[in-house]
Amino acid sequence: MKISHADVLVTSPGRNFVTLRITTDDGVVGYGDATLNGRELAVAAYLSDHVVPLLTGRDPHRIEDTWQYLYRGAYWRRGPVTMAAIAAVDVALWDIKAKVAGLPLYQLLGGASRKGALAYGHASGFDLEALFDSIRAHLELGYRAIRIQTGVPGLDSVYGVSASTQIGKRYDYEPAQRSAVPSEEQWDTRAYLRHLPAVFEAVRNEFGPELPLLHDGHHRMTPIQAAKLGKALEPYDLFWLEDCTPAENQEALRLVRQHTTTPLAIGEIFNTAFDYQTLITEQLIDYVRSAVTHTGGITAMKKLFDFAALYQIKSGIHGPTDISPVGQAAALHLDLAIHNFGIQEYMRHSPETLEVFRTSYTFTDGLLHPGDTPGLGIEYDEALAEKFPYDPAYLPVNRLLDGTVHDW
Ligand SMILES: [Mg+2]
Repeated sequence: MKISHADVLVTSPGRNFVTLRITTDDGVVGYGDATLNGRELAVAAYLSDHVVPLLTGRDPHRIEDTWQYLYRGAYWRRGPVTMAAIAAVDVALWDIKAKVAGLPLYQLLGGASRKGALAYGHASGFDLEALFDSIRAHLELGYRAIRIQTGVPGLDSVYGVSASTQIGKRYDYEPAQRSAVPSEEQWDTRAYLRHLPAVFEAVRNEFGPELPLLHDGHHRMTPIQAAKLGKALEPYDLFWLEDCTPAENQEALRLVRQHTTTPLAIGEIFNTAFDYQTLITEQLIDYVRSAVTHTGGITAMKKLFDFAALYQIKSGIHGPTDISPVGQAAALHLDLAIHNFGIQEYMRHSPETLEVFRTSYTFTDGLLHPGDTPGLGIEYDEALAEKFPYDPAYLPVNRLLDGTVHDW
């Protein structure tokens, strides 16, 4: 069996996605997600110009060899563009291997370790009333764990809070705006730190002690600010506090860890296991947040989770809507198979997206399951996809009230 050709498919059914389709000489087709929010065309060019020509004629079953060939063979290692491109190839090859075997992919990863993957959704509101409505809406959809993001007094827009909750349309939060240049938001960390504990107190009083609650700090605090917040939130028993501080400096988490028992999750912007080396070996975090799409695919993620398992650290795979249904399906096969599963982020894709990408995964009683279709369980409607051409969209840029650029 040989790879006969590969195609880079760019579409925008509600948002931009990049998909790699690999076809074998036997006519077996595999899909991989190569979507890097706001830098989509860079990955598409990396694949078209530098990877697709290398794939033709290769044995699609040699997944580990192909991964090493693309990683070591590029000489220039790591980085989100390179690792998203490698992930797309890797996931497409796993899709092919599982289809040839006639098995859902999770069976090749060791089989199911659980009934399904506990999912968390994103509830948000500028004020408590809107936030409570959003939490209730998520509970009605079947979510059994919920991320809480709230407005901050004095700020017009805040990460994670859907503007549309104000007009009652939908609760989904979509930060990437269609535009040739990014929008700009404002931020005030002290106002946020004053406000957030009171919000969690109100949510616990309304919804009780059992509901798992999560929160995303989105890299905006210094280590000592993050320590202060983690400590202040301890009475509300968070499932996790995510991205409390930028973690390029992994040692910074030692300071946070010294001060709080609130569980910590980090890593959605990381792309290799090396980014976690100190965090994992010193047990400075509790959950690994990488996306399959941005971290080298199934092959690299399986190794990363096995490494984390040695230190009792669990998975929390990144799964907002900028991960395509292909990337989400890949995550669900891993979630089902690995022993140290923690939780899976799950934002529902738009109806347009789900018409282009036909999925086999299910969401029942708060649990996601990848389905039992051979392979990943995703079909791609190319004719429909071509009706949604690429349209530039960017994540916002963030500034402090005095105009200083800050982490978004
Ligand atoms: Mg996050």
